[in-house]
Amino acid sequence: MLQNKRGLIVGLANNSSIAWGIAQTTRREGAELAFTYLNDALKKRVEPLAKSLDSDLILPCDVNDDQQIEALTAAIKEKWGHLDFVVHAVAFAQRQDLQGKISETSREGFRVALETSAFSLIALAHALAPLMSEGGSFLTLTYYGSEKVVPNYNIMGIAKAALECSVRYLACELGEQNIRVNAISPGAIKTLSAKGIADFNSMLAATREKAPLHRNVSPDDVGELAAFLLSDRASAITGDVVYLDGGYNLLGF
Ligand code: NAD
Repeated sequence: MLQNKRGLIVGLANNSSIAWGIAQTTRREGAELAFTYLNDALKKRVEPLAKSLDSDLILPCDVNDDQQIEALTAAIKEKWGHLDFVVHAVAFAQRQDLQGKISETSREGFRVALETSAFSLIALAHALAPLMSEGGSFLTLTYYGSEKVVPNYNIMGIAKAALECSVRYLACELGEQNIRVNAISPGAIKTLSAKGIADFNSMLAATREKAPLHRNVSPDDVGELAAFLLSDRASAITGDVVYLDGGYNLLGF
């Protein structure tokens, strides 16, 4: 599905990351991949994973740092000339904001969560869309807590609402250049980031118990859908948030 496509994966931390499921599937489908890592500690984990998928374009990128985004864009432009897709699998909020009361969120905590988890998609689109000279596709990851109040999801729900709205506005703007922008909304998956959410195991258990399919989803499940959405087979799909949660969102708590 992705033969002759070149894609950038932003948000790989380790082999539990959703980005890893997407990377493996998109590579299997023929894509050539570039990767970013947040810092030196994660570089040690990301490098061997990226190399195992034949990637030799592995670059630093803190999405809150414009200079790093610029350097990343320049490196991709120099090596590949153009880009076909970007996977944005990035989110962060300070622990006290994730686990505290929404009414006690600080101005700084709100900024950090929204800037890292939502604005970063806009920043990457601004920098990288110009490399999509033959059309392209952006894909981000969101969660049901953007729409309904999910216990303990807190500030991240507000950030995901902003992210999903950014998907719709970016899709309208970039559609002119045949660039599509979509989001996958997976059910709960045990990853490094998920550890920041209090009582996360209850979210996993609730899905297994109540979702129509009575199962949790995996990064591989997300990868299968991602490969399709990033491919030309999905060439008419843009501005969408696609649920992948065994039907859990249908229950409307
Ligand atoms: P993860 O911890 O494996 O990935 C999160 C990534 O965000 C990490 O690689 C981290 O380095 C990166 N990141 C954080 N701050 C950054 C910054 N300033 N610059 C660059 N990168 C930064 O966890 P994950 O669960 O795979 O998360 C990937 C995406 O999936 C996130 O957007 C998350 O909200 C979303 N998501 C996760 C679940 C779940 O249950 N795990 C469910 C729905 C959506």
